[in-house]
Amino acid sequence: MKPFQKAAFIGIGLINGSLAKVLRRHGLAGEIVAASRRRETLDQALELGLCDSATTNPAEAVRGADLVVLGTPPAAMGAIAAAMAPGIGPDAIITDVGSVKAQIVRDVCPHLPDPSRFVPGHPVAGTEHSGPEAAFATLFEGRRCILTPIEDTDPLAVERIKTLWEKAGSAVDLMTPEHHDKILAITSHLPHLIAYTIVGTVADLEEQEQSEVFKYAAGGFTDFTRIAGSDPTMWRDVFLNNREAVLEMLGRFTEDLVALQRAIRWGEGETLFDLFTRTRAIRRGVVEAGQAYIRQPEDPLAPKP
Ligand code: NAP
Repeated sequence: MKPFQKAAFIGIGLINGSLAKVLRRHGLAGEIVAASRRRETLDQALELGLCDSATTNPAEAVRGADLVVLGTPPAAMGAIAAAMAPGIGPDAIITDVGSVKAQIVRDVCPHLPDPSRFVPGHPVAGTEHSGPEAAFATLFEGRRCILTPIEDTDPLAVERIKTLWEKAGSAVDLMTPEHHDKILAITSHLPHLIAYTIVGTVADLEEQEQSEVFKYAAGGFTDFTRIAGSDPTMWRDVFLNNREAVLEMLGRFTEDLVALQRAIRWGEGETLFDLFTRTRAIRRGVVEAGQAYIRQPEDPLAPKP
């Protein structure tokens, strides 16, 4: 007996496509159906074997499904929940993989026949690539997945989604949607904003200077361009939908940046050295937590050495 009889993936790009591969690899679902906006995306998903059938109609996809995974940009999830609602059966557990949580809970729950069956989630894993062809089954291995159940969420539904992510190779943490959004604002959203800014500054340079930046781009700048190459739609949605937490962290960051600027101007080497020593210790902590460098040998779109 498989854990799920029919899994419906609504949106079938990098994240949902990778989770579909996990279901396939471990035989976790009897049948997999995908729904997406564009027929072209569905044809790719079928060709790659991510699903058994595909439709552009979310209500049709979720009919008879006992697992529904929302994997579209966060801002689209409310409208999608409304569109699929007529097809949702009483046995369905609904989850999502969106990068912001409070907004998704707010937008999705009102449309569901039984919101207690909704287990909001966020796999803290990804690449800068998008679409079904970017998906690979080991994406979630050694990573963390955050579930943000609310007061009314059915604990048995939470348990089944937790087990699913553990099968995918992730360690699962539970927290409130608001706490998730605050933590991710600093660990993910702010670094992305900084990367977009730095790469944007280079984009505004004169052509001659720009070509030299490309030519001499060493570790630092190259790493920023990887992050700044992430999907524009998704990141627009993240900043617009986690506005408060991002602005709070951005305020702190701006103050710290001005303090550094002052230290450089006044030649305060000790201030710089103290900070760089403290940040080195943080780097060690990240490495020890096993989150520094994750080998992703299966990533089909990773640059070849
Ligand atoms: P993706 O590869 O770009 O795939 C997105 C999917 O959503 C596609 O099937 C796309 O359909 C569909 N879609 C896009 N806009 C839509 C709209 N307005 N209405 C309906 N469907 C729409 O995206 P992804 O990277 O897998 O991200 C999916 C979710 O995972 C997002 O909520 C994101 O926040 C979250 N997430 C992403 C990462 C990451 O690193 N990328 C990490 C963790 C979580 P068509 O192709 O048919 O247009």
